[in-house]
Amino acid sequence: MYIGIDIGGMSIKAGVVNENGDILAKHAVTTPKNDNDAFLNAMLESIDKAVEEAGIQKSEIKAVGIGNPGVVDRDKGILSEATNIGFSNVPAREFLQKHLGNIPVLVENDANCAALGEYYKAESSRNFIFITLGTGVGGGIIINGKLYLGTNGAAGELGHIVTHTNGRPCGCGRRGCWETYASVTGLIETTKEHRDEIKSLSPDEEISGRTVFDLARKGDKDAERIRDMWIEEIAIGIVDIVNIFQPDQILIGGAISKEGDTILLPVIDYVNKNAFCAEILSKPKIEMSKIGGDAGIIGAALLYSNLAERE
Ligand SMILES: [Zn+2]
Repeated sequence: MYIGIDIGGMSIKAGVVNENGDILAKHAVTTPKNDNDAFLNAMLESIDKAVEEAGIQKSEIKAVGIGNPGVVDRDKGILSEATNIGFSNVPAREFLQKHLGNIPVLVENDANCAALGEYYKAESSRNFIFITLGTGVGGGIIINGKLYLGTNGAAGELGHIVTHTNGRPCGCGRRGCWETYASVTGLIETTKEHRDEIKSLSPDEEISGRTVFDLARKGDKDAERIRDMWIEEIAIGIVDIVNIFQPDQILIGGAISKEGDTILLPVIDYVNKNAFCAEILSKPKIEMSKIGGDAGIIGAALLYSNLAERE
């Protein structure tokens, strides 16, 4: 039995997960901000409650994995920072081992955990890329069944490939990164840039990531055109990823996954036309994430067994 912890700005979620990636019980607590000790105690509380609900003994826990929305120190088991929670250098391994015994406690970036969770729950594929489209564009890379971290452990920053030379400024310091166009933030930006062209949009209406999707569904052709421009931005980056990795499968997650085929079908069509040697080579299966919110818990829980497979 494993414990997976998914740290978010709003809540800390702990889950008891078996070897197959099934969640037996989970429990969420509110994330304390700007307070390392309160954060650690809240994390422990979420574990205790999940263990209680699963009806298992603490001695049955083989390992704990933690997905942090920020930088981690894997060697020391420290959550180095998470800007939207306001903690720094949280000694998660040391703290949890004190309370749970001397079991492995692994820390990992949350996008990598989500990628691993999606991977374990997806159909069998060995080379797998997970992309999340949200405020930014994140992702994770699985090569030959193992999470790929790169030399610095910072691989998988898929959102920072450049798709527009001299394009929009990005938080990473460059311009024209894929995420500044293909994220939901990018969609909102594009919608704002073109708002005068959308006839059915009232001037005082606030723009969200749903605006052009909702208006296009009501038959607004201009909204549809802007929606399709955004979908093409997604597809452009995915072609780059296909050309570099030639994965078996790509899964797209994030808040937009519920738009399903509206996004998926044009993306697949674009990839089929534009990927390298598209006429000759087989294409990856491109799908929307099906497990959504629980992927982070499952992936964090299975970090230890994936690491063991890696060595
Ligand atoms: Zn960037």
